[in-house]
Amino acid sequence: MSLVSTPAVVLRTYRYSETSKIVRLATRDYGVQSAIAKGVLRPRSPFGAALETLSEGVAQLYHKETRELQTLAAFDVVQLRRDLADDLGRFAGAAALSEVMLKMAPPAPLPAAYQAFLQGLDALVRAEPGQADAAAVRWLWLLVGVLGFAPQLETCVRDGNAVSGTVAFSVAEGGVLCAKCAGLQPPTKLPPQAYRDLVALNDEQAELPALDAAHAAAHRRLIARFVRHHLDEAGGNGREPKSTAIDIWERRAWGLGS
Ligand SMILES: [Zn+2]
Repeated sequence: MSLVSTPAVVLRTYRYSETSKIVRLATRDYGVQSAIAKGVLRPRSPFGAALETLSEGVAQLYHKETRELQTLAAFDVVQLRRDLADDLGRFAGAAALSEVMLKMAPPAPLPAAYQAFLQGLDALVRAEPGQADAAAVRWLWLLVGVLGFAPQLETCVRDGNAVSGTVAFSVAEGGVLCAKCAGLQPPTKLPPQAYRDLVALNDEQAELPALDAAHAAAHRRLIARFVRHHLDEAGGNGREPKSTAIDIWERRAWGLGS
């Protein structure tokens, strides 16, 4: 066992005992890790208020690769990101990103995924009013992409043929289908504008598409189905419901259409 130090974001915390919490951390250097923070609930705890959901900082862990539960020695906050909690749309998007990290990222070094996760949180903080959904959709796609599930959007996922007009999308196959492969009843149909928006959402360099409420809902639905499909395929870890934050974000379950 060794004491290691890594940039990290708090994904979730659970009360463990009178004085301790278990935290799930997205770390840059060790992937997603669970750690016990002993004494965190004592008055004058050395952790202070640092261990809040979405807090970013530097974690010091007593780390042993073969162990499921590490010990958190310290967490020095760089950024609390409390402003995300001021807006339910942004917060729900951040929770959906956190859930993808929690359930799809392995406990192994994955700096690209950590980076994409942080960029997603920052994009949500900075998003123009009304664009929080588009920002969340973009970074969910980019995050699942770096985790190895990038959708194929340019040509047919089955035979590489060109696609045009209204484009079919297969969640199960992970990409678009040409007219021949889509058949008469394609699984999901993307009208030309929705297809162009999907391509732009998956391209970090492209301008973020302006999505009205109906189109934002359709794009939330598509990425949520995509994530759920891959979670089912991975089988989950059996301890938690397969997805909750993503469902809440997809349905905007906290209010009426705002
Ligand atoms: Zn095809």
